Amino acid sequence: MYRMRKYSVRNARWLKSVYGVLENVLVRAHPIFRSIGYDKIDKPVLMVEKLTKGFLLDSKSCGQCVVGSTGLSCPMNCPKSLRNGPCGGVRMDGKCEVDATMDCVWVNAWEGNKRLREKEYPIQFVQPPIDNRLHGTSAWLREVRRAAASRDAVVSE
Ligand code: SF4
Repeated sequence: MYRMRKYSVRNARWLKSVYGVLENVLVRAHPIFRSIGYDKIDKPVLMVEKLTKGFLLDSKSCGQCVVGSTGLSCPMNCPKSLRNGPCGGVRMDGKCEVDATMDCVWVNAWEGNKRLREKEYPIQFVQPPIDNRLHGTSAWLREVRRAAASRDAVVSE
């Protein structure tokens, strides 16, 4: 929903903090998820993720969520699906060149990033190309596995 997209960007700071708390809880649950099997829980978790992120961010469930780096503006709402934007066609008033009824998602991303007030703007990190094979899988669980693996690597050093 477009209105909620704008709301989330305007409230990027506290929403990202809530997101961080949720991520910590999920990472702590990694041993439980692993014992059940990530494949088995992917669909139910994806359902919750779709409802939450669909409502708040107009997420398209690409499975490789980067909204933490884009000021909570989902890049998959860009008609060109640019993961590193904006394109060269942003209108003077900040609207999208393809769909003039909406703001350019990358203009919103920059606004959301400024609200985070982090030391470095995470939007400055170059994002890898989208992997369409991961569409419709849980980005949350992917992030949990990545975070748990890097935590385990630090512990074993
Ligand atoms: S103007 Fe912005 S949202 Fe529109 S196509 Fe270009 S980068 Fe994407």
